[in-house]
Amino acid sequence: KESSSRENNVAKIRVVVRKRPLNKKELARKEDDIVTVNDNSLTVHEPKLKVDLTAYVEKHEFCFDAVLDEYVTNDEVYRLTVEPVIPTIFQRTKATCFAYGQTGSGKTFTMKPLPLRAAEDLVRLLHQPVYHNQRFKLWLSYFEIYGGKLFDLLSERKKLCMREDGRQQVCIVGLQEFEVSDVQIVKEYIEKGSAARSTGSTGANEESSRSHAILQLVVKKHTEMKDTRRNTDGNEATRGKVIGKISFIDLAGSERGADTTDNDRQTRIEGAEINKSLLALKECIRALDNDQIHIPFRGSKLTEVLRDSFVGNSKTVMISCISPNAGSCEHTLNTLRYADRVK
Ligand code: ADP
Ligand code: MG
Repeated sequence: KESSSRENNVAKIRVVVRKRPLNKKELARKEDDIVTVNDNSLTVHEPKLKVDLTAYVEKHEFCFDAVLDEYVTNDEVYRLTVEPVIPTIFQRTKATCFAYGQTGSGKTFTMKPLPLRAAEDLVRLLHQPVYHNQRFKLWLSYFEIYGGKLFDLLSERKKLCMREDGRQQVCIVGLQEFEVSDVQIVKEYIEKGSAARSTGSTGANEESSRSHAILQLVVKKHTEMKDTRRNTDGNEATRGKVIGKISFIDLAGSERGADTTDNDRQTRIEGAEINKSLLALKECIRALDNDQIHIPFRGSKLTEVLRDSFVGNSKTVMISCISPNAGSCEHTLNTLRYADRVK
């Protein structure tokens, strides 16, 4: 398939599915595991009833770049998804890694360790003489999109706005970026930002399932002169030339996009925004895949923010997370159909 056109031997778009194990509740309810994985394909065994109420199973088969079963560790997930794109970041690539799926399917479990592992590898590469001598540095930022608005997760959830400069570069005004030279600091920022994500009254997963969290690791090249001056934001990190970056995006729960008929007005607005952004994301990745000139970024805040990651050298990894239990069958099929359209 043409989409697999390779630069640096790394596919431009990779779609991977990860199945989590049945959890305690599902086991206690004696729910069936309806997802079987074989190599890079999987089968969903959908329980159904005929009109005369006799039970039968409808099978749905899907094929992806990789399918990871419940025995695959986070470390292996890293090696199969993010690790191959790390060296390309030094070759002016903008990489993005998405976790897509219904709430409870394992998006956060999957995403949380990835930036740390990536930072380890990036820091190691930065210390190589070839990059060190060029004054390459690594910067980190962490923000979320909630109801179509941006909030800085490392700066008391300060509200941010987005601006486009003359060269169509997106700039998030006031977003704090932190230089990270060792991995321990990265770990602290991940913890801090993740905690800021879930301060709502309704409980951690409830709140975070309605927002997209975006953690970016940016490699910049610094020239001595510019380094000593501060710009109007007092934000040192906006200087230095961006060489490449990788964005980790823990998407809102895909089922939230269907909250558009909820009784609560706020929930309805948020649901509509989530629905819009997930559709826009799919369209952008498809456009990218077809090497289209026009990429429909304008469809949502999410895709606008990621605009510069969809042009030029880009790599996209989509990790679609699925729950294995019979009760999640409909959501699982929706997730797999979405992933299927992207690939
Ligand atoms: P989401 O972010 O998609 O809402 P979570 O990542 O919070 O889902 O996962 C829901 C629960 O399932 C968590 O308790 C998490 O620890 C557990 N879990 C998810 N994926 C796995 C996995 N692959 N192995 C073991 N536990 C998992
Ligand atoms: Mg989550």
